[in-house]
Amino acid sequence: MLEVEAIDVAYGKRRALEGVSLSVGEGEVVTLLGANGAGKSTTLRAISGLVRPGRGRILCDGRDLTRAPADAIVALGIAHVPEGRELFPDFTVEENLLVGAHRRWQREAVREGLERAHRLFPILRERRRQRAATLSGGEQQMLAIARALMARPRMLLLDEPSLGLAPRLVTEIFRVIDEIHATGVGILLVEQNARLALGAATRGYVLETGRVVAEGPSAVLREDPRIRQAYLGLAGTPP
Ligand code: ATP
Repeated sequence: MLEVEAIDVAYGKRRALEGVSLSVGEGEVVTLLGANGAGKSTTLRAISGLVRPGRGRILCDGRDLTRAPADAIVALGIAHVPEGRELFPDFTVEENLLVGAHRRWQREAVREGLERAHRLFPILRERRRQRAATLSGGEQQMLAIARALMARPRMLLLDEPSLGLAPRLVTEIFRVIDEIHATGVGILLVEQNARLALGAATRGYVLETGRVVAEGPSAVLREDPRIRQAYLGLAGTPP
């Protein structure tokens, strides 16, 4: 469904990505691993149209989105949950969800979207009149994911969903990721916790200083001595 072909992205003179290529199939979960500053968030931003590649192409179902406006990319079915969540702190939970609804004038679709969000995250129903700023970190992450789902995407770009969360909430977020996957939505997952990310994804890519240095099925990446040492904190050679 999604093809990123050899993109370069720079912030001013600083090159963040160089020749990055990756693909995510319909309904597939793929992870993007890498140290801080490797270019993971930049890759997601390029796909969702928030930064523009200087070179290379991004295709969705064969259609070129490299220069498409961000709202057109959402309309094609790609929704981004940014690192840091970027909620509207003074809006209520429900108002934040409504911001995510791509076709707000379709009342039936909005109602269904809210019901889906509440089914996936019952806590958001309980808190629907509460300001987003007053939610816990885990609840804010749930709201950010639920808001992206309001656009009825076929693919979610998830940036560090477990960041700063207590272990119990991390487990909960990954349970939800599995549930979203089970509904046929594809996921490109950026995650510091490589063990969990490789558990949730069928394939992965490893970025180092803006380049893809390894890729393959999760089971193969898990056995790669460099990945075991650098990302999984294990001895180089598998037992
Ligand atoms: P992290 O896990 O720390 O978020 P990352 O892999 O997501 O890291 P990016 O945020 O994509 O990395 O950053 C890639 C490079 O681009 C880094 O060197 C970073 O300092 C730089 N960079 C990111 N955003 C900007 C910006 N808005 N302006 C200038 N440089 C930036």
